[in-house]
Amino acid sequence: MKLYKNHIMKEHSNMKIGGVAKEYIEVENKNELLEVIREKENIFILGNGTNTLINDGELNTTFVSLKPINYIEEKSEGLVEVGAGLDFSELIDYMEEKNYTGLENLAGIPGTVGGLVFMNGGAHGTEIFDRISSVEIIDDKGELRRIEKENIKFSYRVTEIKEKKWVVVSATFKFDKGYIKEIVERYKMKRNENHPLNEPNLGSTFKNPEGLFSARLIIEAGLQGKKIGGAEVSMVHPNFIVNKGDAKFTDIIEIIKAVKDGVKIKTGIELEEEIIIVEN
Ligand SMILES: Cc1cc2nc3c(=O)[nH]c(=O)nc-3n(C[C@H](O)[C@H](O)[C@H](O)COP(=O)(O)OP(=O)(O)OC[C@H]3O[C@@H](n4cnc5c(N)ncnc54)[C@H](O)[C@@H]3O)c2cc1C
Repeated sequence: MKLYKNHIMKEHSNMKIGGVAKEYIEVENKNELLEVIREKENIFILGNGTNTLINDGELNTTFVSLKPINYIEEKSEGLVEVGAGLDFSELIDYMEEKNYTGLENLAGIPGTVGGLVFMNGGAHGTEIFDRISSVEIIDDKGELRRIEKENIKFSYRVTEIKEKKWVVVSATFKFDKGYIKEIVERYKMKRNENHPLNEPNLGSTFKNPEGLFSARLIIEAGLQGKKIGGAEVSMVHPNFIVNKGDAKFTDIIEIIKAVKDGVKIKTGIELEEEIIIVEN
């Protein structure tokens, strides 16, 4: 494993904000991960940091990256075990290579497989759990175990894994034959058009309230384009907050609060953050 003390976290969050962490550890395999989890305190598991806002002060946190745990293993035809650190785009590439279908709607999501499974990420009516067969986790007692999908509770952007603070070590997917390249290309193109990809951001800031779209509520409240310090409610996609270059952690926190307050006053609806915030 690689261990760095007093590590600068800025480049580990897609918001390009982050202070100095007590430790940053990159584990190479499951045994190293188990060792770290059993020995260290105040751990935060990091994937690609595409959904994680990190405080820019001193952080008493040990960040653990699983990115080297990124294997793909074909268990049997269509049954594929994947390391949690695998970049999701590589799973899409593998599906193309093997002619597997099922997760094309998610193409372009910039997270790791572990990050997506943790929060049941999804897009365009498909969620990652639609294709999960089982998940290998480390539970709150530090035990490594495999759980079949039917024994895991999950719903929109929520899983038992997240609620119980388990660590995703690998996920096994069940795919059918028939990769649809046209869907992958269409949604990747849509993302290029509709997301502010040239500015640091964390994707959708707020979950969509049932039957509604946060982006629409933010527009209705007149908050698109609102700025606080270096933070801005994106003009390209109002549910995205972007870092205009020099945003501080507190700018992002304050703009989130301003959007929540504004939407609540205008519509009576309480928005809930989708992004994860590491305070200290
Ligand atoms: C431009 C853009 C577009 C996006 N579009 C979408 C979208 O369409 N749909 C969507 O759902 N999301 C979207 N996202 C958000 C983000 O990509 C997803 O939430 C993704 O699942 C996060 O993965 P990550 O590896 O970057 O997680 P990180 O940001 O590194 O971590 C997020 C959370 O997951 C936890 N975590 C990560 N890996 C593990 C693990 N192995 N075990 C346990 N916990 C873990 C972390 O502790 C943290 O709490 C978008 C983000 C961006 C920047």
